[in-house]
Order: sequence, then C-alpha cells, then structure tokens
Amino acid sequence: MRMTYDEIIKSLKEDPLEELLKRADKIRREYVGEEVHLRGIIEFSNYCVNNCLYCGLRRDNHRLKRYRMKPQEIINLARNLIKQGVKTIVLQSGDDLAYKRDDITEIVKAIKQEGEVAITLSLGERPFSDYETWRQAGADRYLMKHETVNPELYAQLHPGKTFEGRLRHIVFLKELGYEIGVGNIVGLPGQSFEDLAGDILFIKEIEADMAGIGPFIPQENTPLADKPSGSVELTLRVLALVRIVAKTPHLPATTALATLGGEDAQLKALRGGANVIMPNFTPEEFSRNYKIYDGKTKVTFSRAKELIKKAGRKIGQDIGGSLRCRTHP
Ligand code: SAM
Repeated sequence: MRMTYDEIIKSLKEDPLEELLKRADKIRREYVGEEVHLRGIIEFSNYCVNNCLYCGLRRDNHRLKRYRMKPQEIINLARNLIKQGVKTIVLQSGDDLAYKRDDITEIVKAIKQEGEVAITLSLGERPFSDYETWRQAGADRYLMKHETVNPELYAQLHPGKTFEGRLRHIVFLKELGYEIGVGNIVGLPGQSFEDLAGDILFIKEIEADMAGIGPFIPQENTPLADKPSGSVELTLRVLALVRIVAKTPHLPATTALATLGGEDAQLKALRGGANVIMPNFTPEEFSRNYKIYDGKTKVTFSRAKELIKKAGRKIGQDIGGSLRCRTHP
C-alpha cells in the first residue's frame, strides 16, 4: 500500500508510536531480513569550510580544537578495523579541502587492498571530478545527508548553500554508481510536519540505498545553541515511516538518537525499522573534538554488538550492500 503525502503527515501526528514501530518492523523483516550491519566510522578531520548553523564543526566555531589525521594513520586504523571483522568503513570529516583528491584516492586504494571491505565516503561537497576519481579508485558508497527538503529552511541553515545544489551532488554521485546515503535531521528549528513528510517521500523518490535519520541536538558555540533538541519519539516515527514508505534503504539506529535517548532509543529504532549501527573507531584523542553536537555518545564496537544481541537480531556477515535492486518493486 502506497502512502500519500497527507497520509504520512496524519500518521506522523496521530498514529500510536508502538503501532508504527510494529508496522515498520514487519516491513523490515520482509524486505531487509534479520541482519544488522555494522559500519565502522572513522572521523578523520573536524576542519570544515562550511558554516552550518547547527553544527559544532562550523568554520566560525573558533573554540573548537581542530585535528586532522594523517593519511597513514587513517589507513592503519582501517586495517585494524578490517582485522576485527568490520566489513564497511565510513570515512567522515568536515568539508575539509586540505585533503586533496589524490590524498583520498591513495587512502581508498590502500584500504581496498586490505581485503573484502566496502568504503563509504562522507566528506561533504567536493568538485564532481573528485567523486569520479574516488569511485574509480574503489569507493563504493557516499553518505551525503540532504538534511531537509525545505529549500528556504535549507538556505537559512546552510549559509551560501542551496538544497538544489546539494541535490545536484547527490544525483551525480548516484549516476557514478555510488550507493547513496541521504537523510534528514528531525526537529530543526522552524521545521514542520509537512517538511518531514517531504523528507520521507524524498528518501523514497531518490531511491536512496541508505538514510541516516537523527534528531537535532543543539551544540554550544553555534547560533542554534539555545534551541530545544528534536524529539526522540518524533525521530522514531520518521524512521519507522521511512521503512514503511521506502521499504529497502539501510537505516541506522543513529548515534544522535543514542545521544538523546540512550540505549533504549537505539533498541526501539532496531525494533522499528532500523538495520544498521555505526560504531565509532575514531581514536579518543581526536573523537573528543568531533563535536558536531553536545554530549555525543560514543557507540563502541562492543556496545553495538551487545545492542544487536539485545534486539534478538544477527550481525551482518557480509558487506551489506544495497538491497534496492534485489527487492524494490
Ligand atoms: N561534512 C560532511 C557533510 O556535510 O556531509 C559530513 C560531516 S557532517 C558533520 C555529518 C552530519 O552531522 C551532517 O550531515 C548532519 O546531519 C549532522 N549534524 C551536524 N550537526 C548536528 C546537530 N547539531 N544535530 C544533529 N545532527 C547534526
């Protein structure tokens, strides 16, 4: 059954949470199965040329202690993850142009040589030719959240940027054959239920392979520091509806959800449509300064495996590629 825009808005506002989670869980079982995939994330730099109003990495946050991991440090860490059985490595940073195209290419090539592993890049917006080179070097996926589909809100929150521009990057990445990850922030100041329904439909229509959905969490030293957090419950509703509407995307029980709602929220996410966890492998000396939002929980590898056990699910045994082609009608 297809849900219309109006039905999604009504469901977001009115359906009992437990009922929504159950519906999403049923679809998850049918389209995605019992496996929960572990994507190991390395946050290798917190420098950023952008000034997103909500993000602690924004360029005007002069209070943040900045760091950059060296390419060889990143490669060594990735090798270590692979030895521990991690099948996907997510390389994430602020939009940090100090890593040149060739630096990233060398990192991708070196990691791919280490074994059967998928690489997700999440480096923000780069020249299109960079995406092409990295794809040829072996990068498999690109995570670029669309943040919000409301163009006015997007422009307001991302000085100098547009939703249309973001979309051009996402579409180009898709055309290059990357599996694409999008996703939105729930509870952004000024966001409406209509916007969220738009986000849910966008994830379906763009045929996303993955969508990261987390609540807004205020961060000190940003213009939105005094705004209220997004709601855990509303985030779970959006997540469940994405599973119900879009069916096959990989959906993480996000770190932002864990930060606001603890283990309970992550467990609810796993029971309401989610099938991915992203344990964090960034060395402590760096991760303490990857302050995108306040109080960020560190979801460790062991905690992620515990959660999967608690949810009564299985740990994914392979790279956990896109399910879209296999099962999407
Ligand atoms: N620079 C890359 C990019 O823009 O795609 C990736 C790094 S960026 C820090 C990763 C994600 O953090 C963003 O896509 C955004 O959704 C999330 N984020 C940043 N600040 C946040 C906040 N205050 N609350 C919730 N999510 C936030």
